[in-house]
Amino acid sequence: MICEILCVGTELLLGDIINTDGAFIAREIAALGFGSYHQTVVGDNPVRLREAVSTALSRCDVLIMTGGLGPTCDDITKIAAAEAFGVGMHFDESIRDDLVEFFAKISRRMTDNNLSQAMVPDNGIVFRNKWGTAPGLALEGEIDGIMKRAILLPGPPSECEPMFMECVKPYLAALSDETIYSRNLHLYGIGESAAEDILRPLMEESVNPSVAPYACEHEVRIRVTARAKSLEEARTMTREMSDRIYKTDAGQYIFAETDNPFDAKNAVVTAMIAELRKHGMTFATAESCTAGMIGSTVGDIPGASDVFVGGIISYANEVKENVLGVPHETLERVGAVSEECAGYMAQGSRRTTGAGIAVSVTGIAGPGGGTPEKPVGTVCFGVADEKGVYTTTRHFNGRNDRAKIRRLTTAYAMMLVIRRLRGEI
Ligand code: ATP
Repeated sequence: MICEILCVGTELLLGDIINTDGAFIAREIAALGFGSYHQTVVGDNPVRLREAVSTALSRCDVLIMTGGLGPTCDDITKIAAAEAFGVGMHFDESIRDDLVEFFAKISRRMTDNNLSQAMVPDNGIVFRNKWGTAPGLALEGEIDGIMKRAILLPGPPSECEPMFMECVKPYLAALSDETIYSRNLHLYGIGESAAEDILRPLMEESVNPSVAPYACEHEVRIRVTARAKSLEEARTMTREMSDRIYKTDAGQYIFAETDNPFDAKNAVVTAMIAELRKHGMTFATAESCTAGMIGSTVGDIPGASDVFVGGIISYANEVKENVLGVPHETLERVGAVSEECAGYMAQGSRRTTGAGIAVSVTGIAGPGGGTPEKPVGTVCFGVADEKGVYTTTRHFNGRNDRAKIRRLTTAYAMMLVIRRLRGEI
């Protein structure tokens, strides 16, 4: 089965936003084992959109469209799709009820133009949107005597991605008589090319399950995907292949496993929380250059309060000294960006919060503030627990900007906690 992606939005064409929906759906389609040979981005222009829909439907079996489903007048995707299938539109009362409920829940007045979202193509399958207002849709029918399908999803990734996983993936899977299951292995401390080099024999030997490495910002992800007649069989196949990967030289770098993209995004923090729970350990932070990002990342995970005690944002030296107890002499002699300071910060956080383990970060996120000895991207870390203090320094320089240095620092701090709890450092 051939799928094609068509993303609608002038802001995509202008480069104002990055087409993450296209990338996300492309990855998912590939993982499902479907072919995909073209991707198109088109602006909010009815004539060009109609043309793009018709071209795409002429060369694929399933067209997946994103964007242009909302209540504003430039949201024209539904109309173009209905026209391509030669069907009319009708008002769907159950969607109207969903909209009324959604606006009541968020205590906002529903404007009349929102009701246009309840207009759906005749014979369309409605995918209810639990994450926003515009429902998703699937249209099915013959065009020039050939069976075609179009799937329409809202543009915001926070709606598009969960709707794809919850509604579209099962819909697509049902079109095939096989089930597909993927498992992600998360690796830290090895680059994509090194991982690929180790896994190349497995990648070449096995088509089903397939083994594919992906470079992500602070980790390498290996996705193992199996197709089988039943989910159980597909799971067993991925388990067996995962076990083989553990036995390769890449196995030592695996720190977590996940089986859906939402968990995958949070793999480091989820693995850290799981490790803390396993050891019955509470956790705290002392953050300088990340200014609370580690704490905030932990706070994103529901139920983290059973292990996360709190943190101290010690941006100024006075806070490092007066709240965390970093000696004035340390700050004078080696400066705030030093392992010595990081060690005191971690101990100070542990002492102040009463947590079992505390992690600290102090570094130069840039763009200014670097020196030849401590260039932008230099970050010192400390981990304090009942065994004592561990400190280390990383250099996230190269092409990393401020935001990325802070994200890499956050992930690395959490990796240190995992490794400390596992007795590796
Ligand atoms: P809404 O109900 O929000 O209007 P919609 O389906 O009409 O949903 P658009 O109006 O096309 O979606 O886009 C809304 C926002 O979603 C965009 O401003 C952008 O931030 C994001 N978005 C849209 N398409 C994409 C895409 N392909 N990749 C990433 N983000 C996107």
